[in-house]
Amino acid sequence: MKSRELIELEEKFGAHNYFPLDVVIERGEGVWLYDVHGNKYLDFLSAYSAVNQGHCHPRLVAKIKEQGGKLTLTSRAFRNDQLPLLCKELCELTGFDKVLPMNSGAEAVETAIKAMRKWGYTVKGVEKDRAEIMVFHNNFHGRTTTIVGFSTEQQYQQGFGPFTPGFSLVPYGDINAAKKAFTRNTVAVLVEPVQGEGGINVPPAGYLEDLQELCRQNHALLIVDEIQTGLGRCGRLFAYQYEDVRPDGVIIGKALSGGFYPVSAFLASDEVMGVFHPGDHGSTFGGNPLACAISREALRILVDENLAARAAESGAYLLSRLASIQSRHIKEVRGKGLLIGVELEADAGGARRYCEALAQAGLLCKETHENVVRFAPPLTIDKETLDWAFVRIKGVLENL
Ligand SMILES: *Cc1c(COP(=O)(O)O)cnc(C)c1O
Repeated sequence: MKSRELIELEEKFGAHNYFPLDVVIERGEGVWLYDVHGNKYLDFLSAYSAVNQGHCHPRLVAKIKEQGGKLTLTSRAFRNDQLPLLCKELCELTGFDKVLPMNSGAEAVETAIKAMRKWGYTVKGVEKDRAEIMVFHNNFHGRTTTIVGFSTEQQYQQGFGPFTPGFSLVPYGDINAAKKAFTRNTVAVLVEPVQGEGGINVPPAGYLEDLQELCRQNHALLIVDEIQTGLGRCGRLFAYQYEDVRPDGVIIGKALSGGFYPVSAFLASDEVMGVFHPGDHGSTFGGNPLACAISREALRILVDENLAARAAESGAYLLSRLASIQSRHIKEVRGKGLLIGVELEADAGGARRYCEALAQAGLLCKETHENVVRFAPPLTIDKETLDWAFVRIKGVLENL
């Protein structure tokens, strides 16, 4: 079927909760995507960093076939032979004590919220139903009703209330504001090390260390959402590793499966994860053997192919090239590793039209917020392909 017909079908029968670029992708291989007409595009979004390992990585294709023909789901009513190995390997790789597997990122965030609150009541001793979690302006942690309830993005909330209480919003990157916002009921700080959806906002150096210190002083947990920034994207396994911090918990998802399957997890210390007892929390698909086998392989690929270090190198290279572009439309170029944002001036006509022009030129990316173009190719991208991309980006930014 041609893309026009497929788009019409989607418009007619699908809910209109997205506004995608009108390219209909049929196939992916590494950093490249192919539409139904055979046109080739460079993927500069990686499904919001879920495809850090590149599309259809051969090792993951083999693994999904192998495990898919063996065992896919038992539920947690029984044990399976993949979950223990995923938990062990994740803990060895990350240094955390325990793993709680879920499916989507938002579910892992919800899991972390439950852990933070219960820790607050059972360990810190906060009075019943008084726990507060500190979150930040321009945060993005997913789309459940509880999570959008503490968003500062109006559209995420409008029409979906009433919302869950117990969250306090603080300006991002401002340590004094955070300091003032702690109360005796603050049980945790939930923070992104770089705000992805919020516009690729990089906080001042030392921000997480300072937050950690405030958490220590106030007997609160530091929980980091690395769903987008983690697993190599920002040039380290975790973006928080640029600083001397040791969070009490971290939330991962997206690239945990290399884009093959929804897999997420909350990783935490024994003290935090110890709040969960049988029956407290669960998920039918969480920790299923197909998800676990795929994740184990996806993690091994990150290590074997040295993807975090490659992201650091490629990211620094791309950032410096982007910074060299002379365009009155560009306000700022910023990022960490291969999570890069180009913020356009308010009068540049919005980021969307740049993304559309880039798609025409064979490069797929997505605006985030009105005026930021996000660049986040698979971490496997080589220098030659980065140069290919740069020529097109420069052309669009200089000529539009
Ligand atoms: C994508 C994302 C989420 C939500 O993940 P879903 O799988 O879409 O539910 C949460 N936090 C951050 C930082 C994200 O980028």
